[in-house]
Amino acid sequence: MLTREIQYLPDYIYPADEWRLVEKKFYPRLLPNMETLFSVANGFLGIRGCHEEGSPVYQCGTLINGLHETWPIEYAEEAYGFAKTGQTMLNAPDGKIIRLYVDDEPFDISKVNLLSYERVLDMRTGIVEREVVWEKFSGKQIRIKSRRLVSFIHRHIAAIEYEVTLLNADAPVVLSSELTHPPEIDVPSGDPRASRAFKERVLLPEKNYHNGLRVVQSYKTRSSGMTLACGLDHTIDTECVNSHQCTCDDDCGRTLFSIEGKQGQSIRLTKFMTYHVSRSVTAAELCERSDRALDRVISQGFDTLLDEQKHYLDDFWDRADIELADDPATQQVVRFNLFHMCQASARAESVGIPAKGLTGLGYEGQYFWDTEIYVLPFLVYTAPRLARNLLLFRYRMLDKARQRAREVNQKGALFPWRTINGDEASAYYAAGTAQYHINADIMYALRKYVEITGDEEFLYNEGAEMLIETARLWVDLGFFSPQKDGQFCINCVTGPDEYNTVVDNNAYTNLMAQENLSYAAETLVWLRDNKPKRYEALTHETKLQPQEIETWEKAADAMYVPFDKKGGIHLQDDDFLEKSDWDFKNTPPEKYPLLLHFHPLVIYRHQVIKQADVVLAMFLLGDKFSPEQKRRNFDFYDPLTTGDSSLSVSIQSILALELGYFEKARDYIEYALFMDLADVATNVEQGCHIASMGGTWMAMVYGVLGMRDHKGEISFNPRLTRKRGTGRVNLIIREQRLSVTIEQKKEEAIYLLKEGAGLTITHQGEKILLQENTPVSMKIKAPAADAQ
Ligand code: BGC
Repeated sequence: MLTREIQYLPDYIYPADEWRLVEKKFYPRLLPNMETLFSVANGFLGIRGCHEEGSPVYQCGTLINGLHETWPIEYAEEAYGFAKTGQTMLNAPDGKIIRLYVDDEPFDISKVNLLSYERVLDMRTGIVEREVVWEKFSGKQIRIKSRRLVSFIHRHIAAIEYEVTLLNADAPVVLSSELTHPPEIDVPSGDPRASRAFKERVLLPEKNYHNGLRVVQSYKTRSSGMTLACGLDHTIDTECVNSHQCTCDDDCGRTLFSIEGKQGQSIRLTKFMTYHVSRSVTAAELCERSDRALDRVISQGFDTLLDEQKHYLDDFWDRADIELADDPATQQVVRFNLFHMCQASARAESVGIPAKGLTGLGYEGQYFWDTEIYVLPFLVYTAPRLARNLLLFRYRMLDKARQRAREVNQKGALFPWRTINGDEASAYYAAGTAQYHINADIMYALRKYVEITGDEEFLYNEGAEMLIETARLWVDLGFFSPQKDGQFCINCVTGPDEYNTVVDNNAYTNLMAQENLSYAAETLVWLRDNKPKRYEALTHETKLQPQEIETWEKAADAMYVPFDKKGGIHLQDDDFLEKSDWDFKNTPPEKYPLLLHFHPLVIYRHQVIKQADVVLAMFLLGDKFSPEQKRRNFDFYDPLTTGDSSLSVSIQSILALELGYFEKARDYIEYALFMDLADVATNVEQGCHIASMGGTWMAMVYGVLGMRDHKGEISFNPRLTRKRGTGRVNLIIREQRLSVTIEQKKEEAIYLLKEGAGLTITHQGEKILLQENTPVSMKIKAPAADAQ
């Protein structure tokens, strides 16, 4: 169900453009949103799209993946095993500030007279460009151009080129390039999705110094003990006479340029920024790294950064683009979502992907299941190495997950529901730590990764150990219930739907746990029979007993999945039907999301759903449901699903397409696509919804192309959803590169193996062996009638 209308921004704000997001005019009302949308990031470092001059600003954000503060969670009433330490991503010192003064008057976009304004996020080049002309009361006109990037190639580097030209008169110009300790952020109260403000200063100053045009500052966080160093360096390029002065103290490093500006002569300041963080190395050592990084990048110059950026993105688009001909508006939003996923993941090494990427502080910069279920599929098919890194990051968390399992009195390992450093950070167990499905989600992603990339080494070396520990958790958590004829039941858990919490036998959890258990058993049996040495080492490391594997198999075979015979539907959980109906008719759009307007218990008492749950299971484990079953379940659950989580509509669209509900699917896809660009969830100022962006990729690939990949077998069942035009998707499957083109008008699908030794796929039930560079055209059979 859709609970509100999409409020599209008028065309003149983002005119349709296939590669660029263009802001034609400065709209103060949209400033918070634009800061998010115009963010530049590389997965390690992110800079929100705030203007260089430091004002106006909603939330300046320089975000470093993994840089966080810890704090003791205070419960009014403690209970055993509650998470103890919160983790919140920090705002790092703001290095992008370049204040401009002409005739000693400051330039502030919101206050001055602008003769022209344009800002562009260019998704081909990976830069944000802004060009404005400012007219002063005196009639003097100044053109200001800037270009900004966070390098995909140099993980620790960002740069800005800032050019000022006096158009019709001479004037003194001052440029103050700063690296400032960030002001405390404004946190909207009462919204659990927002970030957290700290009572005390968190970044405690260590060393700071300046040298030539360079400033370097370093800090240590108050409680988490992380170190941070950041630095700036500059080049100035102008014919005008100029001088500079450098200062730095604990709060601000500054290089100030005073220039005798001359009409028509440009003043180009290039600013290089570097950021380094660590949990183990001293701040002094990080300062040295900053110096080295700045030395290198300044000798290479801005143009080299631009070239490298373009080169990286050429490769990215070659791997990951979804091309839509004749529809620039949809093309723009599709690429916008892909581009932000690239920005969220490209250099996320030894870290996860925060729910908002590096575009905002929403959800405190923490990692959830969003990564494995929503972002990993895109990475598995377009950047397998990045997918592997993210799984490796989970593997490195395994010891903490073992410890967490002990804290909640279980065997095996329990991955954290929310985390940055591997410890559980969720302070709310009902809609938080009770989501044990996180374990199965990660193992599901592992399987997808292994089956699609063929990286079995990873499965045997890292994956198997995670499988053992997660399987142990499930058999310990559940039990063979005599009340249910000895079937395996799992009680008191929360599924993906956070509006029905601490329930017995959540169908999604049980089905995913079953998958987790059988994958663990299969893998270990295979290792035992085929790689006895590795098996032996594993059993030694984990003290695995052979009978454990038998228990996993037994539990998987006997897994209880609640089903209502009368209605012929799977039950979301044992008691779902016992709950009363939600009065949807009298819930106006402004009361959504319900979590901001109703006490949790009111919500929990009703048949109302936050996000796809059974419907998600029917997508992820689609081969376990018959088409008829899918239809009955979807028809029952869809009208109860509010989509209050942005993770929902993309999944609903995939099932709607599968079932032939094309109109509904179109609406859901639109909703998912515009989640951020049209601020559908009304909180884009807190950051982009990265999982939803991953969901849009899935809606295109699993929805529109009808791809399925159960057990690594690739099949397509394309749906002719658009009236015209051609659509093309690029995929990497077991190191082979495939493009699938849908010719809507001709009702044809063209499969082209661009690179590879041969790949077997299925098109609408027909098997095809694809050979390199030999396109195969297949007729798309008439789509099923819209069942609505
Ligand atoms: C959703 C979760 C999700 C989290 C972070 C919540 O609103 O219910 O499923 O993991 O947002 O995106």
